[in-house]
Amino acid sequence: MVSSWELFDTYKYQNVIGLEMFIVKRLKKKAKKMSEQSESLYASHIKIYPKYQQGFFRKIKWISLFILLGFYYLIPLIRWDRGGDLPTQAVLFDLPHRKFYIFDLVIWPQDIFLLTFLLIVSAVGLFFITALAGRVFCGYMCFQTVWTDLFLYVENFFEGSPRQRRMLDEHKFTGKWFVRKAGKHFVWLLIGLATGGAFVFYFADAPTLFKSFLDGSAPYAAWFSLGFLTITTYVFAGFAREQVCIYMCPYARFQGAMFDADTLIVAYDEKRGEPRESNKKIRGKENSGDCIDCHECVRVCPTGIDIRDGQQYQCITCAACIDACDEVMDHIGKPHGLVRYTALSALENKKARLFRPRVLFYGGILLLAVLMIIVHLASRASVDLNVIRHRKPVYITQSDGSIQNNFTIRVLNMTAKPQVYALGIEGLKNAELSVAAMTQKDDDGNTLLIVGPGKVEPFTAYVRSKDRSGGQSAITFALTAQDETGGQDRYESVFMRPE
Ligand code: SF4
Ligand code: SF4
Repeated sequence: MVSSWELFDTYKYQNVIGLEMFIVKRLKKKAKKMSEQSESLYASHIKIYPKYQQGFFRKIKWISLFILLGFYYLIPLIRWDRGGDLPTQAVLFDLPHRKFYIFDLVIWPQDIFLLTFLLIVSAVGLFFITALAGRVFCGYMCFQTVWTDLFLYVENFFEGSPRQRRMLDEHKFTGKWFVRKAGKHFVWLLIGLATGGAFVFYFADAPTLFKSFLDGSAPYAAWFSLGFLTITTYVFAGFAREQVCIYMCPYARFQGAMFDADTLIVAYDEKRGEPRESNKKIRGKENSGDCIDCHECVRVCPTGIDIRDGQQYQCITCAACIDACDEVMDHIGKPHGLVRYTALSALENKKARLFRPRVLFYGGILLLAVLMIIVHLASRASVDLNVIRHRKPVYITQSDGSIQNNFTIRVLNMTAKPQVYALGIEGLKNAELSVAAMTQKDDDGNTLLIVGPGKVEPFTAYVRSKDRSGGQSAITFALTAQDETGGQDRYESVFMRPE
């Protein structure tokens, strides 16, 4: 007979075995799940079909789009008479000659200081706007958003509403599918081509380059840039869309550091909206909020988020959800602004401050950088003199016993007119200057040099001194334009003699 203790042990044993099996099974399951997760670190892309929303902010976005794209496409076509044989394109980035023409402003390599401050102004300007108004740049001015908007409009035109677009994607390879997709992709590629075309026109004379594209004689770099910009516009605005904003754009990641509770953001007023209630019969009877849980704000969102979940880094503050919710509020007879531009502090019934330390700090740096640019532009020279002393030979002893040093003089005329400059030397007694092929002198005996507009001219100069006292002496080359707008410049060098 089996004792109760033996029965208990058998029961316990079976239970232990069962428990072990159970734990092993759980562990295996967990390991499988973990291995599946570790195999894929990339969340697969879920296509978003945002609804095209009309409204106040949509109108502002259209205005912004027309202004930005209008400038971008038309600026290379504007002609600008600078006189002489200078380029007649209003905005031209002439990389081979290292000159940027922006209307009457010509930026030379010597103006690297100016470019540095322009970059500082762009970066700090972005920080300043972000601290004040959040990601307003992303929503209204970023080229990714602007082109995505345009591509979405084309998609909506050919394929219809989000539901129709989804249906079309689910029923592929039909006649309707082919015609609609072909029309959409054709227009997308045309926009991409116009984008790439406009871009390359900034780097060469637009009409000349256009003709060279037509006759096939355009340089390889121009073909490559055109192709590259066409494809990237097509892919980024047509397919990658919100993925660029969420995963590729570094600004999305660090812009949160410039936010504070007083920064303007798009937000859902939870106090007013909650508890949300979709049932019309219950709504109004009980203590329900203004949100009717219709999901219109989610349907229009280009990044596919729900603004009611709070502030999210994916939000580009495009305000489509504001327009959508305002339309819903009109339907149910409630005031606008359940989703609105506001600050977190205002949502907590505190007064949002405009002038905060970070806004003043960014504003101060911005102002300083703009002032530096103005000062640089106001005081920059219109001529640049550069002198290189020849080292082989260091000096030449002439038959009359005088010592000669040779120099290469480079004169850069930064004005739009041809200039005549008087070149003289100072600081060396009993010395005379002559310049190869330049025989004309002014009343003071200075040699006259002629330099065309926007040109750099090299000259060979000879300085002779009868003073043979040993060693080296300082010598200053002084250049003065005959026309006072041409400016003046000086360059200090040395005159070498035998020891
Ligand atoms: S659109 Fe307005 S009412 Fe509709 S779910 Fe969004 S917040 Fe609520
Ligand atoms: S949450 Fe609203 S503002 Fe933010 S991206 Fe979506 S639609 Fe635009």
